[in-house]
Amino acid sequence: MEVIFLGTGTSQGVPIIACDCAVCTSTDPRNKRTRTSVHVVMDGLHIQVDAAPELRLQCLREDIRWLDLFILTHGHADHISGMDDLRRFCDLLGGVALPVYSTEEGIGRVLAMFPYAIAERPISKGYAAFRLLPMPARLELPQGVIESTLLPHGGVNTLGLAFTEKSSGKKFVYYTDCKRLPREALALAQGAAVVVLDGLRPEPHPTHMSVYEAIDVAKEIAAPQTYLTHITHLMEHADWDARLPAAIALGYDGLRLKL
Ligand SMILES: [Zn+2]
Ligand SMILES: [Zn+2]
Ligand SMILES: [Zn+2]
Repeated sequence: MEVIFLGTGTSQGVPIIACDCAVCTSTDPRNKRTRTSVHVVMDGLHIQVDAAPELRLQCLREDIRWLDLFILTHGHADHISGMDDLRRFCDLLGGVALPVYSTEEGIGRVLAMFPYAIAERPISKGYAAFRLLPMPARLELPQGVIESTLLPHGGVNTLGLAFTEKSSGKKFVYYTDCKRLPREALALAQGAAVVVLDGLRPEPHPTHMSVYEAIDVAKEIAAPQTYLTHITHLMEHADWDARLPAAIALGYDGLRLKL
């Protein structure tokens, strides 16, 4: 399994418009954060999780050339805004609709924002087309299984995802945008080689885990490696990477994992 961190930033991204703080003006590329999303390759199956406003630029940067299915974790702007850029992947698939899995809330947002794309094939060559599907608790695929669970995130629930590749048996868990992990989510994360957690900033936030809350959760799950994502400009990469406990690190744009 391969995991590519396309973006690791919060909804404002880093650098923030008109901010001169040390992180926003840093020359360390790991302090440049586009909006959060991840690309997972499971035995050759390409799964894109969320579409940041920078999706096109992220795909060019990381040389993403194919998508088999798309999962929208929830309908917030920083995760849904780039979905129109998925049009290129519909084209590459041969002019057919891209399967799009989400929650009821996420599907409602897609219907409201991209009504022209809800079709079995693009209305014209080069347009986007989405086949909307409710994300099941267990999506069985020839290449492995994607399990999902709901994570509380203020007024909405975010899909928490666990990918288990058939050939390697390796499990990758992705829990972005959440305030806490219910018991089911903690149980689903057991046995994961790598876990990704929302770790917004040092200060508490009503709908996201702070870095300290994320550390507590990471210790409870005790995966061999945990990465934090959805990070604000209050987190300087090198500084926090040195301070975090063993087996916990900050994610960064362009980070690639082979599991
Ligand atoms: Zn700043
Ligand atoms: Zn959100
Ligand atoms: Zn978000």
